[in-house]
Amino acid sequence: PVRPECAGPSPALPRGSLTEGEAKRLLAAYGIPVTREASAPTADEAAAAARRIGFPVVLKGVSRAVVHKSDLGLVRLNLRDEAALRTAFAEVAAALECAAQGASEGCVVQEMARGEAELFLGATQDSQFGPMVLAGAGGVLVEFLQDVAMAPAPLSLSGARAMIEGLRVAPLLRGLRGRPPADIDAAADALMRLSWLAADLGPRLAELDVNPLILRAAGQGAIAVDARATLT
Ligand code: ADP
Ligand code: MG
Repeated sequence: PVRPECAGPSPALPRGSLTEGEAKRLLAAYGIPVTREASAPTADEAAAAARRIGFPVVLKGVSRAVVHKSDLGLVRLNLRDEAALRTAFAEVAAALECAAQGASEGCVVQEMARGEAELFLGATQDSQFGPMVLAGAGGVLVEFLQDVAMAPAPLSLSGARAMIEGLRVAPLLRGLRGRPPADIDAAADALMRLSWLAADLGPRLAELDVNPLILRAAGQGAIAVDARATLT
């Protein structure tokens, strides 16, 4: 495996469970593309952030106490204009107040990513084998299809590609029924970079999930739209 050129983790890496934004900054330090986003304490700040990022946008309510945001009404996708954003802001802020149990980190506005497919990427520590990476079918499918591959970190680019090509969803990624093929190369690059992150942090990284990584059409890249991590 060849180490990719990247910034690497900042020396002031926080401990404990990271927010989505903190986890994404860690991914970005390894050259993994993440959504453009800005925190938005008020509806006015959300509107200003959305104008900078460009509509349509995604609004999320953030709390370290929440694992599955969408189950709690904390994710609103494809908000097309300021009116839709302001309505969603009121709803998400109310849902966040209930869900966060006093541990609310406020709302975040993100670019709305579009793609052909979603993958799950993960990193974890195995007591025997050390840092490991995982890849599988993303989104809701991750729980239903038992379609996950695992390998010790770090991985070469071709090793990362082979892991993804070996998944049961791989034919879907190559393009089925006239759908354009997804950017498997970009997904492999992200998995290779994640494997270096896991190898570098070693036992400090208890776990990290990218769920999902959205794959655009071949040649157009992939982007992490949700991430969670726990550091020790
Ligand atoms: P959860 O905590 O429920 O996993 P996510 O942030 O993953 O919340 O959002 C739920 C789903 O919404 C994702 O699986 C993805 O399909 C979609 N999604 C989330 N953020 C974005 C985004 N920025 N662009 C496009 N789709 C998104
Ligand atoms: Mg998610």
